[in-house]
Amino acid sequence: MKIFINQVPFEGLSLEEEISPAELDLETEMIKFHSGLKIKAHVERAINALIVKLSMHAVLSACCSRCLEEFEWDLNKDVQLSYPFDNSITFVDLNPDIREEVMLDYPVKPLCSEKCKGLCVKCGKNKNEGGCNCGST
Ligand SMILES: [Zn+2]
Ligand SMILES: [Zn+2]
Repeated sequence: MKIFINQVPFEGLSLEEEISPAELDLETEMIKFHSGLKIKAHVERAINALIVKLSMHAVLSACCSRCLEEFEWDLNKDVQLSYPFDNSITFVDLNPDIREEVMLDYPVKPLCSEKCKGLCVKCGKNKNEGGCNCGST
């Protein structure tokens, strides 16, 4: 998402864009996107800075670090950023900051649920699906 400074009126500007995860290199081994990254931005122009309020939304999936099942979650994040500018600059590119903000929200240890029981250490059965018969409790 690029914002051209001379296109921002003093009363502010609202923008919407859907960015493909590939364009921002957002997917990792653990994290996959099931939708584009939807961005809503409200841009205000101060005397020598742009103030950008961003709302980000995407549907993602990850592998649970306990039971190894894939699960989906909604990423929703609001941030406010500011971009100082002077006469040498005609636009600001938000993409590096958008990428960083999204990736900051990735869980270090994804869990399908706080209550996930994980796998049986003996037989490997997913304990969320009921007890196992291997004798371990
Ligand atoms: Zn799990
Ligand atoms: Zn077991």
